Amino acid sequence: MLKKIKILPDNIANKIAAGEVVQRPESVVKELLENSIDAEAKNIELFVRRAGKVLIQVVDDGTGMNKEDALICLERHATSKIDTFDDLNRLQTYGFRGEALSSIAAVSIFELKTERKEDEIGTLIRIAEDGQIKLEKGSFAKGTSIAVKNLFFNTPARRHFLKSNATELKHIIETFKKIALCNSKIHFKMWNDDDLIFDFDSGEFEDRMKAIFADNILDAVIEVKEITDYISVKGFVAKPTFVMNNKGVQYLYINNRYVISRTVNHAVFSAYENILAKGDYPFFVLMLTIDPKKIDVNVHPAKLEVKFDDEKDIYSFIRAVVKKSLGHYDHVPSMTFDTSVENKERLRFNSFNKTGKNDFSDRPNLNNVHGNFDRKSVFSEDEIDLLFGSMNKEIKSTSSPSNLTHPFDGNYSKEVYHSTMSTEETTHKGSNSSFIVLLHNKYILSQIKSGLMIIDQHVAHERILYEKALKSMSSNMPFSQQLLFSQKVHVDPADYELLKELENHLNNLGFEIKFLNKNTIVINGVPPDVKVGLEVNTLLDILNEYRKNQRQKGLDVKDNIAKSYSCKAAIKAGDKISEHEMRLLVDQLFATSMPYVCPHGRPIVIKIPLEELDKRFGRT
Ligand code: ADP
Ligand code: MG
Repeated sequence: MLKKIKILPDNIANKIAAGEVVQRPESVVKELLENSIDAEAKNIELFVRRAGKVLIQVVDDGTGMNKEDALICLERHATSKIDTFDDLNRLQTYGFRGEALSSIAAVSIFELKTERKEDEIGTLIRIAEDGQIKLEKGSFAKGTSIAVKNLFFNTPARRHFLKSNATELKHIIETFKKIALCNSKIHFKMWNDDDLIFDFDSGEFEDRMKAIFADNILDAVIEVKEITDYISVKGFVAKPTFVMNNKGVQYLYINNRYVISRTVNHAVFSAYENILAKGDYPFFVLMLTIDPKKIDVNVHPAKLEVKFDDEKDIYSFIRAVVKKSLGHYDHVPSMTFDTSVENKERLRFNSFNKTGKNDFSDRPNLNNVHGNFDRKSVFSEDEIDLLFGSMNKEIKSTSSPSNLTHPFDGNYSKEVYHSTMSTEETTHKGSNSSFIVLLHNKYILSQIKSGLMIIDQHVAHERILYEKALKSMSSNMPFSQQLLFSQKVHVDPADYELLKELENHLNNLGFEIKFLNKNTIVINGVPPDVKVGLEVNTLLDILNEYRKNQRQKGLDVKDNIAKSYSCKAAIKAGDKISEHEMRLLVDQLFATSMPYVCPHGRPIVIKIPLEELDKRFGRT
């Protein structure tokens, strides 16, 4: 009887294995770059033609290989990086499977040139279309150059499934940047066809961030750093005002390897709880260092997914660290008037891919910010001279006027000051004398230690009401202001339906609504913050806003109601408020979890540092 089982010849086995390791040109780029880094290269150049379909070449100045190694590295499971299974627990290199080069060579026309520093002569290996290996000697540059031509020429099905050049190139660029980002000490260049498209000089991690994202990226992010015996994290997370609605811009590295972890992503997002609109995802770059014993990178040849031994601990750790960084951070944009730097301050993402998705200007929030201050303001946070905590105290302080110098002492100023105060409040002025004034019924100006603080009254109130609403809806203990005269309202059928749908939540928020027949409702009570006389309008406004917000993906019902309510019930720009109300507003604002950004991501507070004023008045 004929034997049915046989061992596959190497060339077929390699071709099959290649399917696992090499999915597209980008996979080749990743494997070659990682090999160069493992070989301790200081300079690495990537050349790509026709999105890698015609040529992918990586040239490095690393250790190189001698002739024997050069020959064996093309064999399957040939690796210099581990000897025993235990070595996996001490892994310091990207590679360890010894599968990449054999796989790549099986599906391309392959050329390897390599020469070690200590050798006079180098090695050239060519694998031709027919699989014939040609070995030559020669004098080459120190290091290794690997050229991969006509990828998938012998696996037409694979080649057929490649995407357009634009798409494949985009993948290559993303991988190139992911790898370059976490290896800032290495000088990387990338050539596309004949153009040098990236040139990342070696430097610090921060320099690489700038080169890859934007020159002023550091103005848009908050540093995260926590080192423990067990796990360490460092990196940057977006300031709440610079959040992109884009899931593609989270960079997580574990032990310097780019990975995807839903655990970590979720931990970061949850740290932004109540700060971000649901559906917004903060940009972040985080580098985790953890004992290799505690993780398993050997999950897939692409090595993207990581498993942690202690998912829960990692989750709480990341969440706590990010929360702390967000909390410690002075979120208040500083405003300066130096017009000479205005252009620098537009946060413009370096083109990351042709779709331009990663440009911060995409975000509606940022546009808002720009719309308001573009021409005159600089949002640089270079001097975080005071943590907002101290500022907070100062505002609240009513008993120690000694350290609060009144900015205007002349009669003129008193006039300005008094004009916003009712007479009865004036009598309290002695004891409650920190400077506070309303500008154009829109902005509250107040003195702080480092200068002047400006608060947008509408968004401040919005933040306060938003958090109140969320609390009230989750506690099921609504406060409701009973109306003296119940209001009977005819609503259109669509509103009637929506009201019914949201009835429970609206009740918890403080609305007491009775549903009569024929699209008629009766309002018996409203949340205490709804203005007298505007009960009906406010309720209908909330419905409209709710519908508008529904278009936003991922927004849950409660959050939407809280947002709609806070937006519609808050005092408006143009509403005149008393000094007492101003102080109340400021106090309540700083009692919220995030006083600096409104639920939509717009800034609530900005400050003008005293130094800036001094500079303008020539006092420097
Ligand atoms: P792995 O990286 O998993 O070890 P590879 O197939 O990618 O497997 O590479 C096989 C071996 O070839 C490596 O272990 C290394 O010794 C050698 N090698 C590959 N690329 C380079 C390079 N650029 N410089 C020096 N040695 C290299
Ligand atoms: Mg490798």
